Amino acid sequence: MEMGMTAADAAFRNDVRAFFDEKLTDDMREASNLTSGVFAEMEIGRRWHKVLYQQGWIAPSWPAEHGGADWTPMQRYIYDSEAGAAGAPRLFSMGLRMVGPVVMKFGDDEQKEFYLPRIRSGEDVWCQGYSEPGSGSDLASLQTRAIVDGDDYVVNGTKIWTTGAQYASRMFCLVRTSTEGKPQEGISFILIDMDTPGITIEPILTLAGDHEVNQVFLDDVRVPIKNRVGPENDGWTVAKYLLEFERGGAAYATTLAAGLEKLRAIAEAERTGGGRLIDDNAFAAKLAAVEVRQRAVQATEHRIMSDIAQRGPPGPASSIMKVLGSETNQWISELAVEATQYYAAPYQPEARVPGNNVEPIGPAATVPVMPKYLNFRAATIYAGSSEVQRNIMAKLVLGL
Ligand SMILES: Cc1cc2nc3c(=O)[nH]c(=O)nc-3n(C[C@H](O)[C@H](O)[C@H](O)COP(=O)(O)OP(=O)(O)OC[C@H]3O[C@@H](n4cnc5c(N)ncnc54)[C@H](O)[C@@H]3O)c2cc1C
Repeated sequence: MEMGMTAADAAFRNDVRAFFDEKLTDDMREASNLTSGVFAEMEIGRRWHKVLYQQGWIAPSWPAEHGGADWTPMQRYIYDSEAGAAGAPRLFSMGLRMVGPVVMKFGDDEQKEFYLPRIRSGEDVWCQGYSEPGSGSDLASLQTRAIVDGDDYVVNGTKIWTTGAQYASRMFCLVRTSTEGKPQEGISFILIDMDTPGITIEPILTLAGDHEVNQVFLDDVRVPIKNRVGPENDGWTVAKYLLEFERGGAAYATTLAAGLEKLRAIAEAERTGGGRLIDDNAFAAKLAAVEVRQRAVQATEHRIMSDIAQRGPPGPASSIMKVLGSETNQWISELAVEATQYYAAPYQPEARVPGNNVEPIGPAATVPVMPKYLNFRAATIYAGSSEVQRNIMAKLVLGL
């Protein structure tokens, strides 16, 4: 199935492939392969950001008036698919994919002029201050308080699971500006400079030993009122708009296919009962089952893409893709641990540093297997848990 690709789309795909062939260096590909987290190692990510910026491809979905590539949904899908297949570094995208579109829609002219070019160039790195201890799926219950004092808000509270806060120069943040009415009605959306006094970042290490997420403490942090996006107490509208971008638009199928290829290579190399693991009937059946799922994901993605081309934004279909994509990723990572057997066990973070010359314990391909397995547990929690996505599907797709 070629998802109704036009000749122009096919030519675009060839351009994208040629670009990746030329610009993706070996160390970038190696870093993508070794990373177990959501995003590429920071230094590699910065270099790749620069390459895309110079090419004019850093902001695929942004309109040309804001310096974006202005691609169609199909072009964006092709690009994301090819990036997954080529193993391009995954960039910190909270600026480009989340707060950028929000500033374009709800920001004033001054905010647009100041923030958008800095997001594109990579001068600002953003983190997302939504979740709090006790407020995740039930986000509207958030407690971080912002009280007006002169021209500023004075912010007190804490945010948790803040990805990349240790690198971020700015955080977009939901704060409570009123305790009246429904919880959703007293929330505002503000932009915080991470250098402001009163901000403390505490790392949270994952089971795999990676530092991706943090808890951020805000103690009497002064934020100019002009850094609010949208009206006071109407931040919920802004927050929901942003979540559409967080959950939508992902191309999972080619990333899953790349994961499967690595799994197959491991199963060809591993031995069991004197033969190759890939020839073991029980394992081969599991591999076939996950391959079937990968193809189902691909067919679903293509169907959704052709719907988008005809009818516009995907709506609740993005929940279907989020659940299918993240759960299939977890499944592949589980089979990889099973295939790798005892070589999955050694804890060897130094062997996952790009450019290292550490002699790994076991075959090199097995080094990232366990960390990926462990970190993929989070994929069905962040950006809306699987249970919450299923609630959305039940309500909006099935009408229950
Ligand atoms: C790796 C990682 C990175 C993250 N990065 C960020 C970030 O950068 N910025 C940020 O703001 N947040 C971030 N988060 C937080 C993430 O958005 C929350 O963890 C998520 O929304 C779930 O909230 P919670 O952890 O409070 O769990 P809870 O909401 O307490 O959920 C606990 C369990 O109950 C289930 N549940 C909850 N409500 C319902 C319901 N109504 N029906 C059925 N089941 C339900 C959930 O599915 C889950 O299994 C990140 C999380 C992770 C794991």
